[in-house]
Amino acid sequence: MAKVRIFSLAKQLGLRSEALITALSELGVEGATPATAIDEDTARAAAQLLAEQAEQARRAALASQQVAAEATPEPGKAGEVVTEEEEWEEEAEELVGPSPFYEAEDPLAELERQLAQLEAQAREEPEAQVTPLPELVARPTGPAPEDMVAVPPVVTVLGHVDHGKTTLLDTLRNTNVVEGEHGGITQHIGASEIEFQDRRIVFIDTPGHEAFTQMRARGAQVTDVAVLIVAADDGVMPQTVEAIGHAKAAGVPIVVAINKIDLPTANPDRVKQQLLEHELVPEEWGGDVVVCEISALTGQGLDELLEMILLVTDVQQLWGEPEAEFAGIVVEASMDPSQGPLATVLVRRGTLSVGDVVIGGTAYGRVRHLRDWRGKSVRSIECGRPVEVVGLNDVPEAGEVVTAAESPKAARQLAEERVSAARASTLTGGAGVRLRALYDELHGQERADLNIVLKADAWGSVQAMQSSLEALGNELEEINLSVVHSAVGEVTESDVTLAVASKAIIIGFNVGVSDSARRLANDENVEIRIYNVIYEALEDVRDAMYGLLKPVYEQQRIGTAEVLQLFRAGRLVVAGCRVAEGRLERGARIVVTRNGGEVFEGTLETLRHFERNVSRIEAPSECGVSTSEFHRWQEGDRIEAFIEVEVERRRTAAADTAGQ
Ligand code: GDP
Repeated sequence: MAKVRIFSLAKQLGLRSEALITALSELGVEGATPATAIDEDTARAAAQLLAEQAEQARRAALASQQVAAEATPEPGKAGEVVTEEEEWEEEAEELVGPSPFYEAEDPLAELERQLAQLEAQAREEPEAQVTPLPELVARPTGPAPEDMVAVPPVVTVLGHVDHGKTTLLDTLRNTNVVEGEHGGITQHIGASEIEFQDRRIVFIDTPGHEAFTQMRARGAQVTDVAVLIVAADDGVMPQTVEAIGHAKAAGVPIVVAINKIDLPTANPDRVKQQLLEHELVPEEWGGDVVVCEISALTGQGLDELLEMILLVTDVQQLWGEPEAEFAGIVVEASMDPSQGPLATVLVRRGTLSVGDVVIGGTAYGRVRHLRDWRGKSVRSIECGRPVEVVGLNDVPEAGEVVTAAESPKAARQLAEERVSAARASTLTGGAGVRLRALYDELHGQERADLNIVLKADAWGSVQAMQSSLEALGNELEEINLSVVHSAVGEVTESDVTLAVASKAIIIGFNVGVSDSARRLANDENVEIRIYNVIYEALEDVRDAMYGLLKPVYEQQRIGTAEVLQLFRAGRLVVAGCRVAEGRLERGARIVVTRNGGEVFEGTLETLRHFERNVSRIEAPSECGVSTSEFHRWQEGDRIEAFIEVEVERRRTAAADTAGQ
């Protein structure tokens, strides 16, 4: 159903937004702002309430005139009544204001007309064609058109704490920079460009899967390849597993870097063995995961790692459009005491130049300075490269999409709209997913996704739960169930962020939920379900899945009857019948057959028992049946009655399985 913004509807009806907002709050819709979009039914309900109030006001006005006319010579008393009514009337006038809506003969018909007009406008307006922000910064796929340029791949380094993420980035920055700049990089802007074999590779400097997923939760996916770093002396650790889950959920290819091979205790083979448990099969063992052995400290194996990064991303054919309108993603932002807000933006489309006006989330401004990743001032920077932007009025959030604006005024207006839209969405709940919402998603669609983040107390339970859930997912075609991440341990903040980014619910088995995870889940409206018995968890998900489905109806035969005699009642022919088995019901679908051939199919409109109208009648009993759709009854006709019943899906599925 189409939605309308309160201010557009109010404008169209000649009302003030506040009038509609007040009416909505009387209807229990709290926290609406002029920017809130409401569905047409809600709009109708609010308008109806206003129309009723206006009608009351009109009547009150009329009554007050009468009272004034009939007033006795005691002016004091009559005056009081008049004043009260007048006040009331003024109040109504204040609330509703003079408006064509109230002056219309039939305000509700007027509303329908205006709604239709708004819908027609929405269809014509280019607004409908605006590309959603995340799509603007998504990677173009497929072969590059002729005038496009190849862009460097973007890499994020993920892994357990102390396994060497920072060291790897430092070493790469210091050894693979443009000649003459060795050791000269002291300032970090949040992303670095490594030169390797005359090509560039962009590294996001905030390592770790939390930052990676937080950006994704904002809608922006910047990473083309994830380097999973695992210390050869320590092996796969809890955060390694989390990182694998997050990278997989994002659909980003993984290159494994087994680090610290300079240590005598290094055991790369053990690491590879452990990776197998997480379905990462090294190429040398017949799988498709590239594994490099490196020492981030000594630099050993780093060239091979960079080569592999290029190899893996070359397959993706990354390209950009330098001539397109600018769009970028914030990868890091901070407040600098002397320069104001600073934002590192990865340019995804077009070119960003000093003097451009940009907006990212609700932060906007004219670009005063641009600095490349080494801190050198530049006038402009093209797609594929990171740049530090000075000139915004506020600090945007990482992951926010930045676009060009026509003027600072246009940017301010857009920012204000976003502020009120954000306020409205905070009031109506966050971005997270609940099973209920999936039900809405399924409406009008063939399939719905049910994504699950799974946490359990032991590895065995993780595996058992995961395979049972996946088996459950295969039961129903309409539900695309996928476990996007599973791991051992309590439900953490990072799980909630992942759930937001992947539009997933969280299922915990015999585990707790950290306080911060609980808070974030509340804010983001993410559903967390904790169970202690596997069977219960599966039953619950199964119920939810079946509850998600659109109901399926089936014709069920409820009874038969035979026509014994015909009566006339005005123009109607009534068939006097005997119910042979089951029952007849008013409103049931009936099929009338004569000598084995069907003569009528339609609705049983009237059912009588003696002189009384009844809604149902059971066998063995006599009754009169009639319908305005059919009059050519004959004695001996046979009636079969059917009703539509909702089929319980689970039983059907179970029966299907049993029948196989
Ligand atoms: P992070 O927490 O993943 O960023 O890990 P760091 O980069 O801070 O590294 C943690 C510790 O491991 C530091 O003391 C590093 O010097 C050390 N380290 C990192 N890489 C290597 C390596 O390849 N060999 C050795 N021997 N130590 C390393």
